[in-house]
Amino acid sequence: MTTAVKSELLSFEEARQVVEQRAAACSPTQPELMNLLDALGLALAEDLRADRDFPPFPRATRDGYAVRTSDVQKTPATLLCVASIPAGSTLEVDDMPHAGEAVEIMTGAPVPLGADAVVMVEYTEAAGENVTIKRAVRAGENIVARGSEAERGDMMVAKGKRVQQAVVAVAAAVGRPEIAVHRRPRVAVLATGDELVDINLVPGRNEIRNSNSYSLAAQISVAGGETLLLPVARDEPAELSLLLRKGLEADLLLLSGGVSMGKYDLVKEVLASLGAEFFFTGVAIQPGKPVVFGQVAAEGRNKPFFGLPGNPVSTMVTFELFVRPVLDALAGATPKSLSFAQASLTEPLSIKTGLTRFLPGRLSGNHSKPEVTWVRWQGSGDLMAVAKSNCYIVVPPDREKLAEGEMVTVLLA
Ligand code: AMP
Ligand code: MG
Repeated sequence: MTTAVKSELLSFEEARQVVEQRAAACSPTQPELMNLLDALGLALAEDLRADRDFPPFPRATRDGYAVRTSDVQKTPATLLCVASIPAGSTLEVDDMPHAGEAVEIMTGAPVPLGADAVVMVEYTEAAGENVTIKRAVRAGENIVARGSEAERGDMMVAKGKRVQQAVVAVAAAVGRPEIAVHRRPRVAVLATGDELVDINLVPGRNEIRNSNSYSLAAQISVAGGETLLLPVARDEPAELSLLLRKGLEADLLLLSGGVSMGKYDLVKEVLASLGAEFFFTGVAIQPGKPVVFGQVAAEGRNKPFFGLPGNPVSTMVTFELFVRPVLDALAGATPKSLSFAQASLTEPLSIKTGLTRFLPGRLSGNHSKPEVTWVRWQGSGDLMAVAKSNCYIVVPPDREKLAEGEMVTVLLA
C-alpha cells in the first residue's frame, strides 16, 4: 500500500476549531418519542414549553402569615388570624385578609390576593385568634408572583439540551411523561494491532489486552452514543479494509492504533484507499499527537471518522478533545465546550516545549483554594496514572517550567 497521506501538525486550538466547524455541519439522528427516564443523557428534539403559568398561583415561600404590608409598618402589630391555608388548599380566600387581619400560610400554598407579603413564622407570636407580627416586611416578600418563572407557552428548555435531572424536572412539571429526543448515534469502535487480544482471552507473552475498545465504549455511553464493537483488526491491509467498511455502516467510526509512523501503522493508507478526506492528520499535543480526523463517503453520505492513537491515555484524551463535539452534534446536542478550571499546582513541573500537554492530574483542595497535583506517569501508555487522576493539567506549548503554587488550567474530564 503506497497511498501517501500528507501530514501537517495543527495546533490544539486549530484542530479544535476544525472539529467544531465540522460538528456544526453534521446532521443529527432522527427524533423519537421516549419515556422520560429512558431519555436520560439524550438530546432534546423539541422545546419544552410551559403548559400553564409557573408558578400557577402566587406561591408562599415560607411558613408564616400572609399580611397587608400597610398593617405592619409599625411593629409589633397585632392582627386577627382569619384562616389557615396549607399547600394544595382549595379554600376560596381571594378577598382575604382585610385590613387588620392575617392568614396563616404554609410554604407552597397560594397567597390570598388580599395579602401582599408573607411574614416568616419565626417573626410572629400566635395567641388565641390573634397573631403578633414582630418585624416589618416589604411588599412581595416571601411570595413568588404567578407566572414570574415562566408564563404559559414560554420556552422552558430549548431543543439540543441534554436530558439531565433539571430537564427531567421541567418535563415532569409541564406534564410530559414522554418527550422527543434524538436516537443514540451508533459509533463503531475498531481497535487495530497484532499484539491485541480480547479481554476474555489469556494474552500470550508479548500480547496485551484490548482495553481501548472498552474505554471508548464507556466514553461513548457517557456521551449518549451506542457502541458497535468490532473485532480487533490485525495490522494487515485487507483485514483492516474489510472491518473499516463494516464500521462505516455506523454514524461515526472510531479507530484506535495504527496512526503513527511505524511500518505497520496502516490506518491512514487504508482509509485513503477508500477515498477518505482528511481534515487533520496530527495535532501538536501530548498525549495524542498522531490523531486523525476525516470523512469518507459510505451509504450515500459522508461518514466522519477518527483515527485515535493506540496508547490508552492518548485514546481517552483525544476522545474528549476532538471526538466529543462530533458525537454531540450527531446526537442532536449543542456541542459541549471543554470544561476548564484553575487550580494551584502543589509541586513544580518541568516539560519540553512545543506541544500542548494534557498531563494526568488530581484535583483536590476546597472551594477557596483548588489544588492540583501532577500524577507521575510513564507516558501515554500508563493506564494506572490515568486511573488515579480526575483531570488533566493543561500546559501551553511555550511553557517549560511551572512553579509550585502557580495557578494552572486543568481540563475536567
Ligand atoms: P499504536 O498507536 O498502534 O502505535 O499503539 C501505541 C501503543 O498503544 C502500543 O504500545 C500498543 O500496544 C498500545 N495499544 C494499541 N492499541 C491498544 C488497545 N486497543 N488497547 C490497549 N493498548 C493498545
Ligand atoms: Mg499498533
